Amino acid sequence: APSPAPPSTPTPTHCPYCALQCGMNLRPAAQVSDVVEVVERTDFPVNRGALCGKGRTAPAVLSSRVRLTEPLVRRPATGRLEPATWEEALSKIAEGLGRTQEAYGRDAVGVFGGGGLTNEKAYALGKFARVVLSTSQIDYNGRFCMSSAAAAHQKAFGLDRGLPFPLEDIPRTGCVILVGSNLAETMPPALRYLTELKENGGKLIVVDPRRTRTAEQADLHLAPRPGTDLALALGLLHIVVAEGRTDDAFIRDRTTGWEEARSAAMGHWPELVERLTGVPLPQLRDAVRMFCDAGTGMVLTARGPEQQSKGTDTVGAWINLCLATGHAGRPHSGYGCLTGQGNGQGGREHGQKADQLPGYRKLTDPAAREHVAGVWGVDPDSLPGPGRSAYELLDALGGDIKSLLLMGSNPVVSAPRAAHIEERLRSLDFLAVADVVLSETAALADVVLPVTQWAEETGTTTNLEGRVLLRRKAIDPPPGVRTDLEVMHALAALLGHEKGFPVDPEEVFDELRRASAGGPADYSGISYRRIAEEDGVFWPCPETTTDTAAATDTDTATATGDVHPGTPRLFLDRFATEDGRARFVPVVHRPAAEEPDAEYPLLLTTGRVVAQYQSGAQTRRVDELNAAAPGPFVELHPRLAQRLDVSEGDRLAVVSRRGRAVAPARITDSIRSDTIFMPFHWPGEGRANTLTNPALDPTSRMPEFKVCAVRVEREPQD
Ligand code: SF4
Repeated sequence: APSPAPPSTPTPTHCPYCALQCGMNLRPAAQVSDVVEVVERTDFPVNRGALCGKGRTAPAVLSSRVRLTEPLVRRPATGRLEPATWEEALSKIAEGLGRTQEAYGRDAVGVFGGGGLTNEKAYALGKFARVVLSTSQIDYNGRFCMSSAAAAHQKAFGLDRGLPFPLEDIPRTGCVILVGSNLAETMPPALRYLTELKENGGKLIVVDPRRTRTAEQADLHLAPRPGTDLALALGLLHIVVAEGRTDDAFIRDRTTGWEEARSAAMGHWPELVERLTGVPLPQLRDAVRMFCDAGTGMVLTARGPEQQSKGTDTVGAWINLCLATGHAGRPHSGYGCLTGQGNGQGGREHGQKADQLPGYRKLTDPAAREHVAGVWGVDPDSLPGPGRSAYELLDALGGDIKSLLLMGSNPVVSAPRAAHIEERLRSLDFLAVADVVLSETAALADVVLPVTQWAEETGTTTNLEGRVLLRRKAIDPPPGVRTDLEVMHALAALLGHEKGFPVDPEEVFDELRRASAGGPADYSGISYRRIAEEDGVFWPCPETTTDTAAATDTDTATATGDVHPGTPRLFLDRFATEDGRARFVPVVHRPAAEEPDAEYPLLLTTGRVVAQYQSGAQTRRVDELNAAAPGPFVELHPRLAQRLDVSEGDRLAVVSRRGRAVAPARITDSIRSDTIFMPFHWPGEGRANTLTNPALDPTSRMPEFKVCAVRVEREPQD
């Protein structure tokens, strides 16, 4: 293992927030109010020292007055959460979960994880659910993040890794179509890749119903009606075919299924697509010209097209566009997903997902069950599942799921139809939450466990490029706080599993490597030492170069002796399908699950602001971030504001079929006049997810966060 840094040397590590996983150094703080401070770390290639405000201020949560430092147990006498010892809190959880399973069966206990958990924690949580609790009911909030892109990736390429190339390839391509990503706000240091693209003469097309800070950088901004990205991609493909811009040699040599996909697209006439999307026909033609004239090209998607009830098909349509134009499986070309959460990528590879085992193996695959059960020392037939997807699991709380163990998530704010999910959580027989602060979800729990934060523990994450990184411990946690691995170790012991849940993250990682060996996400050749020495290692990385079962590509990196170099670039020679060819998937347009009508005449789309992260559980506790983004707002176009007689700052109620949310008006011409926008980081009356539609994508089970029908009412003004 890498030797610990002497106390006076800054500790190189990574930001606790988004999937860029920016590198930073931490050193003891000069300010007494902080325990560590961030120092620039220019040697990490992804961000080269740049950080956004969230990363720069992340240490504030370590020393926050409101962080949890002792377990809390709800006392029957007062009905309130009150301090308890670890022994009491852990016993209550073991009793609560055990009682439920005794009365209602193994699947009456659910487990809910998070895309921010390290690989080691995600792995241990999946194993804990399946081996200790024997429940099939485990999923995680990453289902709400990039699951549609993951499903589309699997269908088309046979493998899901967010970006199949490193970020450094972006400036070297000829044209990027960025679909539904406001990375200038969600991951600001990544904006430089687009700036460099343009400096190199490349073109940038941004697809977004809002003229965001990112869209302002574009050579061409397409602003489709929310929920019509699928039609847009099909219309572009139609034009590509009609204008003879397909790459026929690539289609012939590297793909299958073109005829079906082509005829599906040809039903989407540009004039029809113009009507469906609201994007003018000349802009559609300009987009095709830019994308096809470029020798190389990329399509990058994020939550915009993915968080829809047809997210998998929508991403599939954009992949079809890449394949038809030959912009895939070649250097500096391809499709990629900009994963959102810090360990959104690793979190979906190691077993906290309802249908997966470590190494991105399928739970339904007998060979995968055999392999993982062998590593775990259990009978393959004893592995339960698959279980329900995240929303379906949350929706079943209080029904056939009576008790829940939750780690690293705050669904009271982040789940769709959030008031209903909050009510489901309240209806549980027993809820246990491990978190760093008393989040809105933790506040409903019967037992709350205070756990360590990023800088207080070591572990690996896998960033949006598939680069496995090492977050290093820089300081000791406050007394009274334990790691999630220690929690699982203690609970497993109380539930009769003395062995199998080590507390040392490197020991867990070594087991994870064995469990992943030979799987699609093969980590077996990655070690803590290698990560430290190589600025991260890209999976798949089998143990040796001769063990190529999972390696999908020879890469540009050079093997040293027997050691596999990792795989920064996938699919250059072959795709990860059985025949090595990418698969076109025939898809057709369909409307959003909820379209505007007389009662709900507007479209709502939700998203993020630069100073807050996800449910805001951590960032809302940072003064500087709160000052920059103190609360929710409703963005609307001046024409709509005039029609509704709304002025800047007026309190507005946004009403959907699921509830109402109240926030001040922010009037801007950067949004379509048929659409309003709300950021979703806040609880309470301005909670945007009170409104969102849980209609699920049939393949990925992704809810439709990005579009629903609403009306806007002026509230009485203060
Ligand atoms: Fe952290 Fe993401 Fe900001 Fe980088 S861009 S500092 S990883 S939140």
